[in-house]
Amino acid sequence: MTRHFDWLVLGAGSAGSVIARRLSDDPGLSVGLVEAGGFPADPDIDDPLQWPALPGRAFDWAYRTEPQPHTADRCHDWPRGRLVGGSSCMHAMAHVRGHPEDFEPWRHAGGDRWSYASLLPAFTRSESFSGGDTSGRGTDGPLDVILPDDAVSPVVRAYMAAGNALGAPELGDHNRGRLNGTAPNSLTLRNGRRLSVATAYLDPQILARDNLTLLTEHRVDRLLIEGPRATGILARHTGQPVTLTADRIVICAGAIASPMLLMRSGIGSADTLRQIGVDCRFDSPEVGRNLQDHLLVLGNVYRARQSVPPSRLQHSESLMYLDSSDLSARHTQPDIVLACVVAPSAAPGFETPPYGTAYTLLCGVTHPASRGVVKPGSADPDQPPLIDPHYLSTDHDRATFRTALQLARQLGHHKALEAWRDCEVLPGADMRSDAELDAFIARTASTHHHPCGTCRMGRDETAVVDPDLRINGLGNAFIVDASIMPAIPSGPINAAVVAIAEHWAAGLKTP
Ligand SMILES: Cc1cc2nc3c(=O)[nH]c(=O)nc-3n(C[C@H](O)[C@H](O)[C@H](O)COP(=O)(O)OP(=O)(O)OC[C@H]3O[C@@H](n4cnc5c(N)ncnc54)[C@H](O)[C@@H]3O)c2cc1C
Repeated sequence: MTRHFDWLVLGAGSAGSVIARRLSDDPGLSVGLVEAGGFPADPDIDDPLQWPALPGRAFDWAYRTEPQPHTADRCHDWPRGRLVGGSSCMHAMAHVRGHPEDFEPWRHAGGDRWSYASLLPAFTRSESFSGGDTSGRGTDGPLDVILPDDAVSPVVRAYMAAGNALGAPELGDHNRGRLNGTAPNSLTLRNGRRLSVATAYLDPQILARDNLTLLTEHRVDRLLIEGPRATGILARHTGQPVTLTADRIVICAGAIASPMLLMRSGIGSADTLRQIGVDCRFDSPEVGRNLQDHLLVLGNVYRARQSVPPSRLQHSESLMYLDSSDLSARHTQPDIVLACVVAPSAAPGFETPPYGTAYTLLCGVTHPASRGVVKPGSADPDQPPLIDPHYLSTDHDRATFRTALQLARQLGHHKALEAWRDCEVLPGADMRSDAELDAFIARTASTHHHPCGTCRMGRDETAVVDPDLRINGLGNAFIVDASIMPAIPSGPINAAVVAIAEHWAAGLKTP
C-alpha cells in the first residue's frame, strides 16, 4: 500500500532536519522525511579534528567536477554528506552568519522579507550561543554555537595579532553584524564534539513523534507530477522501487541534488531535458545554473621554528575577513578571506614539512563572479551529475585571488609571527611575479565546500523558485536548501542554510 503524508521532506541534511522538526511541531500534520543515506555510524564524524579525513568514506556522495581550464585543468572533489545530517556531518563546523550586505541580492531577488534584518530572527532562533557576550545572539535554539577562547592555538593568536598590526579591526566574534577583522571561528560543537544539524534538531524525542516518519536509505529518483502539482515521489530502497504520496513536498537535497531531482522530474531547460530523454513538464532554463562556490588556495605554508602544538579545535581556527582596499574598514563588505590552519595544508602534488613542524595561511575570494552549472549526463539517477563551476573564469576572480595571496604572505611575514616562522615553504620565497602567483593559484585553489545557487530564488519569470520558495511550475512543492541562494554570502554557508529553513518554516502559508 502506498504511504501518504501531508508533507514529504526530501533530504535530511542541514535544511531538511530543520524543516522536518518545524513542520512536525504541528501534531495535526503527518510528515515523512526521506533520506538517501543512513544514520551516522562512523565515530570519526563526532571528532572535530577528523573532518578532513571524512571525504571519500562510504557516506560521501563524492562528487567530482569537470576539468577546470582556469585551475590547471584539474577536476575537483566535492564531498557532500549522504546520511542523516547531510553535509553538516562532514563540515568544518565554522558558524558564520555573513555580512549584512551579503543579503542585499537576496532582498533584491525576493523582496524585503529576504533582507538580513528580516533573516535575523531566524539566525537567532536557530542558535544556542555560549562563550561570550550573548547580546544579539540566540541562547535557547537547537544549534549550540561556541566561541572558543582558551582553546585557540597560540599560532592562530599570533596570526590574528599580525592581522591587527596590518590594520584589521579586532572583531572577537564574526556573528554580530560586522564581519571584517580578526576573530576565532564560532563553532557548532556540543561537549567538544561535532553537533550536526540533525543531532541538534532531530533529537530522539523529536524523532519519536507520532507524526514524523524518517525513512533512511530511500533515494528519491523523481517527483510524481500531475498537471501543475506534485503528487508524490518515486524512490529506491534496498534496490526496490517505493512510491510515496503527499499533499505537499519540500525538496532539501542540497545544491547539487535538488536541481538534479528537478531535471529528472521534467523541470529544467527543455534543451537539457531533451538531451537526456526526459519529457519536459515545465521549461525552467535556470535550473542547475547560477552555481557558485568559494575557493581557497592551499596554501601559503610556513616551516615553524618551534614545534606547533596540535589544534584543540578543528585545525582551521580563525577566518579573517578583509576589505582589501582598506584593511582597517569595519563595516564594508569584505572581498577577501584569510585563514590560519595549525598544520601543513597543501594541494595534492605539493610537498610539505611533517605535521607539528608547519602551519598554513589560506586565502580566498568572498564574492566570486564566476557562475557555473550542474546538469545530468543522463536520466539515470545512478549516474553522477556533470558539475562545471567555471572556477576562476573571470578577471575579477583571478585578480582578487592574487591580491588575497599577496595579503596572506604579507601577514605571514609579519613580525607578529616571528616567534613561529622559520621560512615560507609554499609558494616559496622565489615566487614573486604576477604570472608565478597566478600559476600557483591555478594549481592549488580548492573548494571551500560552499556550492549554492542552482535553484535561484526570485520574483522574475526565470527564477526557479519564487520568494515563498515554491517551485515555479508546481503549486504545492518547494525547495528549501543552499540551492535557492541568489548569491553566495561572504563566509561558510551552513548558518545561512539553517536560517533559510527556519525563516521559511516560520513564514509558511498554506498554498
Ligand atoms: C567538507 C565540508 C566542509 C564544510 N565546512 C563548512 C563549515 O565549516 N561551515 C559551514 O557553514 N559550512 C560548511 N560546509 C558547507 C555546509 O555543510 C553545507 O553548505 C550545508 O550543509 C548544506 O545544507 P543543505 O541542506 O543545502 O544540503 P545537505 O546538508 O548536503 O543535505 C542534503 C541531504 O539530501 C540528501 N539527498 C540528496 N539527494 C537525495 C536523494 N536523491 N534522495 C534522498 N536524499 C537525498 C543527502 O544525502 C543529504 O542528507 C562544508 C561542507 C563540506 C562538505
